[in-house]
Order: sequence, then C-alpha cells, then structure tokens
Amino acid sequence: MSQVLPEILAPAGSLDKLKVAVLYGANAVYVGGQKFGLRTAADNFTLDELREGVAFAHERGAQVYVVLNSFLHDKDLLELPEFVLFLEEIKVNAVIVSDLGVVKTVARLSNIPIHISTQASTLNVEAAKFWKSIGATRVVVGRELSVKEAGKIKREANIEVEMFIHGSMCMAYSGHCVISNFTQGRDSNRGGCAHSCRFEYSLDMGLDTEEKKKAFFMSSKDLEGLRILPEFINEGIDSLKIEGRMKSHLYTGTMSKIYTEALRYYHEHGNFLSDDLLYWESELKKVSHRTYTNASLIEKAGAESIFNERENSTEAEWQMVGTVIEASPNCGIVIEVRNAFNQGAELEILPFKGQVINIIANEITDIMMKPLTRTKPSTLIKLPYKAGVESMQLVRQKANS
Ligand code: SF4
Repeated sequence: MSQVLPEILAPAGSLDKLKVAVLYGANAVYVGGQKFGLRTAADNFTLDELREGVAFAHERGAQVYVVLNSFLHDKDLLELPEFVLFLEEIKVNAVIVSDLGVVKTVARLSNIPIHISTQASTLNVEAAKFWKSIGATRVVVGRELSVKEAGKIKREANIEVEMFIHGSMCMAYSGHCVISNFTQGRDSNRGGCAHSCRFEYSLDMGLDTEEKKKAFFMSSKDLEGLRILPEFINEGIDSLKIEGRMKSHLYTGTMSKIYTEALRYYHEHGNFLSDDLLYWESELKKVSHRTYTNASLIEKAGAESIFNERENSTEAEWQMVGTVIEASPNCGIVIEVRNAFNQGAELEILPFKGQVINIIANEITDIMMKPLTRTKPSTLIKLPYKAGVESMQLVRQKANS
C-alpha cells in the first residue's frame, strides 16, 4: 500500500526504557531532562544520559524528542537557554513545548524543531496555523479531538499532527487541572501532579450521610486505539503517541512492539484479521492498565469512559521478572533478575519481533553453575539456551504464579 505510516512514539522515563522502546520497534521516543518537563517523579535523564540516549536511538534510526512542557515562571526561564544549547549540540530531533515563553526561547537560540505539547490544547485549524506561524513544526492535539478532527487540522493547517493512541487519560481539559495543587500542594502544570483524580470522593449535595454517594467519578479509563489504526492512517496522522514515562519497562516494551507490529501488518495487508487483533489486544492487556476505552478518538467521550474503581483493581496480569543480559548456545541465557521466580516457573520472553518464546525454568543455575530452586532480585542467573532469545529482551511471568 502506498500510504505513509505514522510513527510510533514511545515514552522513555529512563535511559534503560529508551533502549527498550527503540529495540522493540518504536520510531521515536520522548524523554525528560532534570527540569522543565511535567513528570518530576519520573527518573528523568541527566545530561550524560541524554547524550547517550540520543546516540543509541540515532544509531538505530530512531528519533528523540525532549519534553520542555512545564509552564514556567520567570525565574525558571532564566535557566532554560543553557539547556536548549546543550540539546542542540547533542542533536535531539525536537522539543515538546507548551509555554509561549519557552517556544520563543527555543526559537531564538536554536534550530531545534518545536512540537506543541497537548498541554497547549490545540483543538482547531486556526490555533494550529498560529503555532505554525511562530515556528512550530508539529502540534500534539488535545485529547478531546477525534481522529477526523485531527485529520482536518493536518490538511488545512499543513502542519504535522501527533495524537495519543494509548495510555492513562487526564480527566481535566488536556491537563489544565489544579486539583493536585489544592489537595496535595503539588503543581500539576509544573510536573507535580499527584493523580488526585484517581482518589475516591463523596458527593455531598445536602444528602443524609447514608445517601452520600462515594465514587471515583473523576478517574478515566485508559485510552487504547489499536482497532482505530486504519483511521489514523487514512487521516494522515503523523505520529501516534503512547502515554507513560513513569510506567514500567514491560509497559514500554510491550506497547512499542505491539503497536509497531499491528501498524506494519495493516500496511502490508490492508486489513486486520480477527485472530491477529485478538492476539495484539491480549498482549496489551498483559500490562498494568485500567479498563480500556477509545475516549474521544471516534465520538465524544461520555460517562462510559469513567473508571469507577479502586486503583488496585488494575493490577497487571503479568509481571516482569528480568532482562536477558546475554544469550548464546555456549553460555545459555543469562538473566538479570528483577522479581524472584521459582524452579519450574513458566516464563515468557518477549522477542523484539514475533510471537513470545515460552520457557519452563526447570534448570536454573547461578553464573558459577550452582543449581538454584529460587532466584533472588538483583542477581544474575542462567537458563539453558533457546533459539530466538537475545540480550535486552524482557522476561515475564504470570503475576502471583
Ligand atoms: S489530577 Fe488527574 S486530571 Fe488532574 S492533572 Fe493529574 S491526572 Fe490530570
């Protein structure tokens, strides 16, 4: 088929996760430095890590975008020029910005392409034209838009358009929210969101105590747009973004792999067969998530998109037990253990492409070849070699097994 494919843009909350995303197929990753981004609780990259991450991605044909999407006060803005010059020196592919002062500073000091963050709530053609007129090359449109509305912006404003396809949703209008500021003293527009919308609240409308409704009425289900991939392609959307810089390695790897494979399959065949769709969907459900929704991608989201449950009901079905450090017929499979598992555990290794590799851990040894009946976190262990296993692949196991 001749249609141009959108890029898959994955979150990378750390250098390790950047490597995972790129190896599992993401065309681009977005990362945060120590300042100016909206995820102060993520690991975030030091300057050296940013340099290494950009080099790693570029060697493998992937792009790196750096988030500078906090709304800054004047004193914060003073520190920005030095960082912008550094980002240009290491050749990042774009910065993601919401604050006009930051847009102006980046444009004045560098030639780094500017992507307008979803925090800027771009919802119409005129807004996109404005951003383009002051130097932006892409808009990450508000999550309130449908794919069709985003396609119109792409065509009429003649600017690159990026949309969220997967991940946690914000109940507030593209993140314009101060619940966290007032309830926790943490500024959500400067990186401190405490996810106050996920808490249980009671609705007191002059009702008796018994009648007060307790509910999680501000918490949204998670976005999942797998079945909508054909619409994204038909509307010419340039980039499909996966939310979650604070999420796990397993999340980053699984999302990068599944969306990339599904996109390629659709491009080659012009359709999805139901068996493939069911397989990809079952993979997306293996990582921690709330119930999935299309949110507003097709029609405006309504009450059905509220996730009225406690957060711990979203426990992952599968957990990551380690990362493959080395694999060859001579040395076997060396795994750095993250979560302990027992002899006989039914493990799955997530290959960079294709179906999972099943391994039953009947013969576990330490690296001195001493037999083990149970592994320990932060140790290296060995399993017998199995074809297809490569270093940096993720190893998972059903939770509570
Ligand atoms: S508290 Fe919830 S709605 Fe508000 S910014 Fe944080 S995630 Fe978004």
